[in-house]
Amino acid sequence: MVQKYKTKVIEIREDTHNTRVFKVVFDGIENFNFIAGQFVMMWKEDFKNEQGYEIKRAYSIASSPDQKGYLEFCIKKERVFSSMIMNMEVGTELWIEGPHGKFILDNKHRDKDIVFFAGGSGISSVMSLMRALKYEKSKQNIYLFYGFREAKDFIFKNELITYPNKFENFNFVPCVTSGQDPGLPFESKRVNLELIKKYLVSPENKKVFIVGSGPYVVDVRKMCKEFGFKSEDIHVEVY
Ligand SMILES: Cc1cc2nc3c(=O)[nH]c(=O)nc-3n(C[C@H](O)[C@H](O)[C@H](O)COP(=O)(O)OP(=O)(O)OC[C@H]3O[C@@H](n4cnc5c(N)ncnc54)[C@H](O)[C@@H]3O)c2cc1C
Repeated sequence: MVQKYKTKVIEIREDTHNTRVFKVVFDGIENFNFIAGQFVMMWKEDFKNEQGYEIKRAYSIASSPDQKGYLEFCIKKERVFSSMIMNMEVGTELWIEGPHGKFILDNKHRDKDIVFFAGGSGISSVMSLMRALKYEKSKQNIYLFYGFREAKDFIFKNELITYPNKFENFNFVPCVTSGQDPGLPFESKRVNLELIKKYLVSPENKKVFIVGSGPYVVDVRKMCKEFGFKSEDIHVEVY
């Protein structure tokens, strides 16, 4: 059953210049069951709009269910709520309600290659899914096309650069649109059909997960369909 919980922030990391990765704890966390890739609604009791209502936003859980005792989130600065998050301190109390969402891996994905496309802060839900796959010692072929503008926008860099050694078959394709070297092999362009053909070769035996802003998801989904993926093999989450 979906419930709400009053959480306390116990750790904050300035992961990039405009993102914060933070951990929260709360009473009853041991009974909070979620599936990698799900999200919660989040708000702060004293952070209200002009009409006096709490400002609520959806945030993916970036940690995976095996990471017990806390939930981790990754929030990128946009406007109202996320700007407040940039300035919060350890000890801040945040309400969450959830979990929600179907951007998850299920048993029918287990014998397939998994293809992730993440734009910007969309990497949050992919981290949860990848961490879960790592915990399961997955032997599946995993592809991650991760789009961001400049080298300084590379969220979760320290963890992601270790993944080629942690998975048997991890194909990491950072797509850095400014062309700035992020410190490992990359493509200096937005993801496009040519790149999809280059890395994926064929749509056979693959499941696709696309997450990011509305325009990013629409663009990438269109390309995936052009490449030959069937609608039922494409899962999307729009931030
Ligand atoms: C399922 C789901 C999961 C999500 N997970 C994450 C996550 O893990 N991490 C994350 O960072 N985000 C995530 N988001 C996005 C998040 O919910 C918020 O939408 C985001 O943080 C922006 O909220 P905000 O209050 O800071 O910005 P808002 O004030 O809501 O503004 C959002 C955007 O609206 C536009 N806008 C608003 N007002 C104006 C204006 N006056 N002029 C011009 N443009 C305007 C701008 O483009 C702005 O960037 C998720 C969204 C969904 C639906």
